Amino acid sequence: MADGTGTPTGRVGSCHNYSKPFLHGGVFCFIHVRSCLSFCLFNCHNFLYPLTKPTNIALLVNSHSGKNKAVTIAQSVEKFLLQKQIHAITFIDTWPDQLDSFSDIWIFGGDGTLNYFVNHYPDCTVPLSIFPAGTGNDFAFILYGKMNALQQAEFILNATVKKVDAGSCNGLLFMNGVGLGFDGEVLKEMRQIRKIGGGLGYLLAVVKQVFFFKEMIFSSQGNYNYKTQKLLLFMVNNSSRTGGGFYVSPLSTIDDGLLDVVTSKPLSILKRLLHLSKIKTGKHLKLSFIEHHSVKNITVTTNRKCFGQLDGELIEGDQFEFTVLKDKFLFRY
Ligand SMILES: [Mg+2]
Repeated sequence: MADGTGTPTGRVGSCHNYSKPFLHGGVFCFIHVRSCLSFCLFNCHNFLYPLTKPTNIALLVNSHSGKNKAVTIAQSVEKFLLQKQIHAITFIDTWPDQLDSFSDIWIFGGDGTLNYFVNHYPDCTVPLSIFPAGTGNDFAFILYGKMNALQQAEFILNATVKKVDAGSCNGLLFMNGVGLGFDGEVLKEMRQIRKIGGGLGYLLAVVKQVFFFKEMIFSSQGNYNYKTQKLLLFMVNNSSRTGGGFYVSPLSTIDDGLLDVVTSKPLSILKRLLHLSKIKTGKHLKLSFIEHHSVKNITVTTNRKCFGQLDGELIEGDQFEFTVLKDKFLFRY
């Protein structure tokens, strides 16, 4: 991990090597036909029927996620796979450079860990899964709902592989979304008062910005819109849920080849207090000060330095170029 100090491990979960070649005679023909069929199904229907199953899994763990929760969850999943005689190797914090030899990659952490993964392995074509073990687990929730780790592991073993979009902002990939303006200032504030941490730290950061955040002017140019206006929020979303349970973009889907832009016009302090909490429920798109539209790409410029959050990571700048990366990754769900 970039910020990780954990010790690398490479524990082998089981010794069954399912990748050993035994390709001869009729067996080869059978496998060849099966591979062709899989390829056709994949390309025709945007998913792969469960003809291929996870056989050789890399468990990538971020030990800093959720106060060591990720390690505990990964250990229980590794044990589960061992009982099923499925080959798995666990990597804690130090992840391999090459992942092509694995049939599947199971990531243990939160949205930040997934963001780290997609930005460090942007060309990965191995099917992925994400186990929720961080403070924000929005993407895992979209894929798996409220399953516990072992239910999820069992589910994934029989799940299909599907193509999933990602978003790109100034070359950085995101899976959930980017929030510019109010969102970014809240995150910056949280970093400054990180000693307080947790729910109280977040609450203080939000309250301060509710009272003191000054809207900025956003100009946007995309495949079908061009506007210059003062805004409280400018959010670009790949998925519907972000920020640890906020449905900021309830109409977003992760496989439609589109990013959803949700903006809020300036609000008085009273209206901020009244309405910002509605965003959590996803019932805000019809409010008069909210605008929503879908784009494939959009460039946003601001009249002063703007902070933002990208899958919960702090970014800053005065120009942000967004593009959807259609079918960028494979997930088994
Ligand atoms: Mg979409």
